[in-house]
Amino acid sequence: MKTVSAYATPAAKAPFERIEIERRDLNPEDVLIKIAFAGICHSDIHTGRGEWGEVNYPLVPGHEIAGTVEEVGSGVKKYQVGDRVGVGCMVSSCGTCANCKAGEEQFCVEGNVGTYAGMLDGKPTDGGYSTHIVVDENYVLGIPESIELDAAAPLLCAGITLYSPLNHWQAGPGKKVAIVGMGGLGHLGVQIAHAMGAEVTVLSQTLSKKEDGEKFGADHYFATSDDDTWDKLEGHFDLIINTVSASLPMAKYLSLLKTRGALVSVGAPSEPLEVPAFSLIGGAKIWAGSMIGGIPETQEMLDFCAEHGIGAQIETISADQIDEAWDRVVDSDVRYRFVIDNSTI
Ligand code: NAP
Ligand code: ZN
Repeated sequence: MKTVSAYATPAAKAPFERIEIERRDLNPEDVLIKIAFAGICHSDIHTGRGEWGEVNYPLVPGHEIAGTVEEVGSGVKKYQVGDRVGVGCMVSSCGTCANCKAGEEQFCVEGNVGTYAGMLDGKPTDGGYSTHIVVDENYVLGIPESIELDAAAPLLCAGITLYSPLNHWQAGPGKKVAIVGMGGLGHLGVQIAHAMGAEVTVLSQTLSKKEDGEKFGADHYFATSDDDTWDKLEGHFDLIINTVSASLPMAKYLSLLKTRGALVSVGAPSEPLEVPAFSLIGGAKIWAGSMIGGIPETQEMLDFCAEHGIGAQIETISADQIDEAWDRVVDSDVRYRFVIDNSTI
């Protein structure tokens, strides 16, 4: 066992504290990673504040992890000491069900093991707000040389969460795609959809981030607080990805789809999303969901981002600023992902 430092929230709404945690001895397939940066995902906040249900405390969040390999187990094949690597939202799954075999470990029928707030070998898992983590190499991703580790960390959750549905629903040339909410997920969605060749529109609460959106590759930018937006864009989109962390009036967003268009929910508010039947059946609209992506697709996403020069636009913080950063994320005051410099832990 290795004792390492971490930042944990001791209760649902209590400030973070620095604690010591144990990382397991390396199994043959394990990699010990020295974490350089950990992104702050809105899911950390939903989980840590108990908005998604009960969790064990102290909770060490963090599932957007980038760092370097410090030690490898005797059977590790893919990685060597010094390699630049990442870990996303999962650290294990059964490996034998149809979904795992298809490379969709996120949908493991036994349930994937979350990087934090999961259970592995009878113990709760601790995430990336810590100096080191031990992970089975099959759940470790290679970070291409051309992406800086700090800009890469958010790709491990936010990046794949947008890449997967954009890929599945074939965002590309000739497709009109809207990204709803330009926060951590949304700002990567704009870059990825643009790189895939789609015509990209941002639907944000206000126009305050319009210039940034255009820099990320948005062709159009509209405020959802402006009533004209809803008239102008009626029946306009092939695909809408909703990244918003709060419950939205879904019927209004479905009205912006073309016939047989798809709205994909990736935002995960604790309150229900209501969908009147008539907003789907008129126009044969599709309402779908998506959750992160499997390990092979996550590697594909990292390689795609490297090829297209895509990374997160980040604001780096020290570990003692996590509480403040969480509040700013909830206030939509993030440009566009907070990343913890783990050397400050
Ligand atoms: P974030 O950085 O806080 O971004 C969310 C954005 O939603 C905000 O920047 C804001 O965009 C918009 N928004 C927030 N409150 C709103 C409100 N009341 N009404 C309308 N718009 C609002 O969060 P994130 O890290 O991108 O995560 C977004 C959501 O996705 C969270 O619920 C998270 O748990 C979930 N998530 C899901 C998956 C998955 O696999 N499905 C993976 C990761 C995260 P504007 O300022 O542009 O309006
Ligand atoms: Zn996340």
